[in-house]
Amino acid sequence: MSTSTNETSRHAPLSTLRIDLDAIAQNYLSLQKRLKRGCDAAAAVKADAYGLGAGPVADILHQANCRHFYVADIAEGIALRKGLDGREAQIYALQGPWGSALSDASHHAITPVLNSLEDVHFWTDAARAAGKRLPAVLHLDTGMNRLGLRPRNVETLATDPSPLKALDIRYVMSHLACADHPSHPMNATQLGFFLKLTRLLNLPCPLSLANSSGIFLGEEYHFDQTRPGAAIYGINPQPDRSNPMQSVVTLTARILQVRDVDRGESVGYAADYVLPAEAKLATISAGYADGLLRSLAGLGKVYIQGKPCPILGRISMDAIVADVTGLALRPGDEAEILGAHQSVDDFARTEKTIGYEILTALGARHQRIYART
Ligand SMILES: *Cc1c(COP(=O)(O)O)cnc(C)c1O
Repeated sequence: MSTSTNETSRHAPLSTLRIDLDAIAQNYLSLQKRLKRGCDAAAAVKADAYGLGAGPVADILHQANCRHFYVADIAEGIALRKGLDGREAQIYALQGPWGSALSDASHHAITPVLNSLEDVHFWTDAARAAGKRLPAVLHLDTGMNRLGLRPRNVETLATDPSPLKALDIRYVMSHLACADHPSHPMNATQLGFFLKLTRLLNLPCPLSLANSSGIFLGEEYHFDQTRPGAAIYGINPQPDRSNPMQSVVTLTARILQVRDVDRGESVGYAADYVLPAEAKLATISAGYADGLLRSLAGLGKVYIQGKPCPILGRISMDAIVADVTGLALRPGDEAEILGAHQSVDDFARTEKTIGYEILTALGARHQRIYART
């Protein structure tokens, strides 16, 4: 009885990723409300809005009055510009004036972030060739050692600022390495460097330092613009505290088969999980190609009828197997992977990674539902 197929679900999508657009808007607005007076929140929508879809995400953020967007590169910026379809917005490309779409950056009004003296000179030459001042954001490295002008590069520019005359510097920014650990001494060190280097440069333009977690470090980190990403998508910006953000994603996948197995049988590739007792197993339609990292093996669980069901054996490309002993269910029923019982942060902890990686790994196969609550 319990293993006869739930026929009505045969034609339904195998997995569904539900993205709550209203939660995205409310998260953005709640971050904006935390900022000191006069400070604005841009939105980081790089990597297709952390895998959730830059088009619908930017659309709802624009409705929530967000007008500044950070993408990774110019190609992402051009796609976003087209999606915004003529609506007013500033789009900044974090990786700078690079890439096969570079020659179209000005045409689509994409503002590159300049991360080195070479970037500055390249963009200055482009401005001279174009016969107009080109917009840019200047990125100072205050300790992350990833992108940005080194302190001695800043001194060079402070001594001879003439290259900047060809440019319209919209913001001077830096990026925090440890903002999700409020007690980390690196935060104050970077803040101090940022104040020192921006004073040295002495440009008449607004400043930007904080990502999501940086907003929660206090008003002295806010400056004129913040650049939250993760918190907008429901990831906890303060891992040591309860999450102030609303949950945004729900991921469910269908049970393809249910089987009763005996003690001593194995499950999955390499046969390295051996059942210690007889059990009922459900094969569920989502695997590592759908964002369930292989590191989940032996650790993860899904929720069926609100009950935790351990994932047994290795993660396959398209499927996982869960222990559903004691549950009455049928093929076609749904298992919750992310949602009310298991947040993105919970899932990330089990996979020994961060929510950012979970979201960007979700893949293209889920039916996506952009929901308004
Ligand atoms: C990704 C990114 C952000 C957003 O960071 P979150 O931690 O997701 O809020 C802000 N600034 C820079 C430079 C980034 O690369």
